[in-house]
Amino acid sequence: MGLLKNLPKVDKFVNNKAFEELSKQLITSISKDTINQYRQDILDEKIQDFTQDDIINDVLKKYQDITKPSLQKVINATGIIVHTNLGRSLINPDSFDRAKKVATSYNNLEYSLQEGKRGERYEHIVSTLQALTGCEDAVVVNNNASAVFLILNTFAKNKEVVVSRGELVEIGGSFRVPEVMSQSGAKLKEIGTTNKTHLRDYENAIDEDTSMLMKVHKSNYSIEGFTSEVSYEEIIKVAQEHDVIDYYDMGSGHMIDLPYNLDLSEPSLIKYMKHKPSLLSFSGDKLLGSVQAGIIVGKKELIAKIKKNQLLRMLRVDKITLAILEDNLTSYLKGQTQDIPTLKMLHEDVKTLEQRANTLKQSIEDICKCEVIKTQSLIGGGTTPNKKIPTIALTLEYKDYKANKIEKLLRKQNLIIRIENEKVLIDFRSIQEHEIKEIQEIIRGVFN
Ligand SMILES: *Cc1c(COP(=O)(O)O)cnc(C)c1O
Repeated sequence: MGLLKNLPKVDKFVNNKAFEELSKQLITSISKDTINQYRQDILDEKIQDFTQDDIINDVLKKYQDITKPSLQKVINATGIIVHTNLGRSLINPDSFDRAKKVATSYNNLEYSLQEGKRGERYEHIVSTLQALTGCEDAVVVNNNASAVFLILNTFAKNKEVVVSRGELVEIGGSFRVPEVMSQSGAKLKEIGTTNKTHLRDYENAIDEDTSMLMKVHKSNYSIEGFTSEVSYEEIIKVAQEHDVIDYYDMGSGHMIDLPYNLDLSEPSLIKYMKHKPSLLSFSGDKLLGSVQAGIIVGKKELIAKIKKNQLLRMLRVDKITLAILEDNLTSYLKGQTQDIPTLKMLHEDVKTLEQRANTLKQSIEDICKCEVIKTQSLIGGGTTPNKKIPTIALTLEYKDYKANKIEKLLRKQNLIIRIENEKVLIDFRSIQEHEIKEIQEIIRGVFN
């Protein structure tokens, strides 16, 4: 038990020079835990010997682990542009700078500069959305999931909402249409079958309890083969004829046409708006390419009702969100969609990606084996399920290392790659031009 006597006393230990610049309170609590752990390990005979420096180093390491930021930058080399696990859409640094000016000063968030009295926070994006989409009015909440909930709760509490069985989807585990509906107080009226729903199914479902015909974007799956679904344009018509609300949870909500014929299956939001829908909602950070938000556009009297729902207060967005969203929507309005990183990546041509891949290849091929290949990647984020777009990737091999060993080594340096056919791929569709040098340094660091 001689070792126990060598354990330092906490009060004295924390005055060590090594801790001089650090938080005394945090060092004291970590030191207590660490010394206790040493005591236990000595009693369990897990430690035969130690020095004071061993304990100091353990304490310093724990201090660093606790105080370093958990949320960090990574490089997305998976090719998936709208990667929910990696933060979805990137925000243009210029938009962020403009938002920074607003957020780090007092601002007119809820103040009318014209009238010198209380204003409304949602006003800041309404005129831009009106000009851009032709909507009558709009409101923004925390994300699209809350937009769906708010709409159902406002218009369909204890009333029926008609939805096709082919659209009762689950998105990302915690968002399931039937469950969101029951929590909101709405009664689900399922129509059609998994693979086929017809216009007459909607017509036949409408009765005095019907509040709304709802369409949900399938987002993360597609039904192939013997299928039919009713387009939103047709649902709008039926709803108008029967004087009920039509609502489309558009999910990703691409504002403008997509490249590679991706939107053959679905018109853009601007095109839908020409049919004067009652309500339509979509995410701010999927194909719109902005911040996390849920955007609701539609008829003025309906948006007014939503604004009266107490729930809106719980789901309201912050000034930072509104500032960035306004900036991005203005880019759309001015036709400057190259300022939206998500769209820029989506439109980048394969030749450019190939040049970047070759640049990286030349800078690392002295240490690993690599090859530029043409392949395909998914856009992700529940945008266009099963639709792939052309891309360029660099394969990476090192000695006899298995792909998942290389993946892990790179991941430790915050470089996230994709494995395809047992091969490591660095996919240039989701890589920013300025990151190529960083990737080169990471690879040289890992394999040297
Ligand atoms: C992604 C998605 C949602 C959830 O949107 P968030 O902005 O992630 O809350 C809801 N409905 C559909 C159809 C979606 O694709």
